[in-house]
Amino acid sequence: MKISFAPPYIDDDVIASVDESLRSGWITTGPKVKALEEELQFRLGIESAVCVNSWTSGAVLALKWLGVKDGDEVIVPAYTYCATAMAVMDMGAKPVMVDVNDNLTIDVEKIREAITPRTKAVIPVDLGGLPCEYDKICSIVNDEKVRSLFVAETEVQRKLGRILVLSDSAHSIGAKLNGIDVCRCADVTVFSFHAVKNITSAEGGAICFNLPKVFDAEEVKKWFKLMSLNGQTKDAFTKTKAGAWRYDIVAHGMKINMPDVNAAIALAQLKKYDFLLGERKRVYELYRKLLGAYHWAVIPPKESCYMQPSYHLFLLRINPITESVRDMLIQRLADRGIATNVHYIPMPCLTLFKQMGYKIEDYPKSMDSFSREISLPIYPQLTNAEVEYVVRNLVELYYELMEKIG
Ligand SMILES: *Cc1c(COP(=O)(O)O)cnc(C)c1O
Repeated sequence: MKISFAPPYIDDDVIASVDESLRSGWITTGPKVKALEEELQFRLGIESAVCVNSWTSGAVLALKWLGVKDGDEVIVPAYTYCATAMAVMDMGAKPVMVDVNDNLTIDVEKIREAITPRTKAVIPVDLGGLPCEYDKICSIVNDEKVRSLFVAETEVQRKLGRILVLSDSAHSIGAKLNGIDVCRCADVTVFSFHAVKNITSAEGGAICFNLPKVFDAEEVKKWFKLMSLNGQTKDAFTKTKAGAWRYDIVAHGMKINMPDVNAAIALAQLKKYDFLLGERKRVYELYRKLLGAYHWAVIPPKESCYMQPSYHLFLLRINPITESVRDMLIQRLADRGIATNVHYIPMPCLTLFKQMGYKIEDYPKSMDSFSREISLPIYPQLTNAEVEYVVRNLVELYYELMEKIG
């Protein structure tokens, strides 16, 4: 049996949707993107969503909107993909890394300790699709003492009057906290539609808004649309209509709009997301059941009325195991045709961040989790027999390695 790690979900409906876009005579931002934004708004119960060409570009634009600049600080977890911190660095600001909790999401008490008068935003990451404790994070940023530390330097910052909660929901479309979709828990939420994510457009992302009432949702959406297309007053689709050629450039924007041909893929998947999420849950629960029998397997949590994950990753930790034994286990699984992965190498272990002065010793939980973590394949196409095969081999190889080491 050959089992890949995270193949995209491409069925006849996805192909038909792309085919329609290709044959329509219009392949970049146009009707498919508009339909995808409307579908997101409808499903997630939000007023506005703006599609862009990646999570990273969406997060950078959100920070640009907030007015984050050189000398500012943004709090991020140390245990995430590097893009979370790089979006902050793209704006010239400093990512302030904090450690994670047992669920591998940001430790909320550590957020409180990291806040300074330079803090403009916090970017919690819904790692593996488990929602962060947004209720607690929001009460921290709204705390009177914390608010009084906040230094507003732009119009948006003055209106907000506090630290912005910008969710890295690259993994968590469809996840809920207290029954509420993640994108209605933070101020701004960015999803990723990269090829390995729950919903994909090959490359892409969406920015969703849930801002306080002082902001005009329509106006904010207009700003993001304009700024994602060079600060141009008319998009290319509108401009191609006969006679509607004239436009203006009113701001220094970015060029990060999503093409229709990409939106076509995500739109077809999103329309059947209830089904896709159910299939991910089936795989997740079967792993939990099969691995629950082993004392050495630390398995991710079951859904509760507090949190419902999006089942993006199955983050298994093995107890006790060293990093090198974990690596051997991954290699031996690969030798048997089973692809696994590790999420993530904590950022302070990566060369760039080491050079910037971050030290892994400051993030003991991240380091400990990383050294014992192994992500198992999880996607709708994975059959129960394949899940059983993965577990059977994992268990066999675990005992084989343990015996060898003594
Ligand atoms: C994939 C990912 C990103 C980046 O998404 P892109 O769409 O590739 O920019 C950011 N954060 C996390 C946690 C991710 O997994």
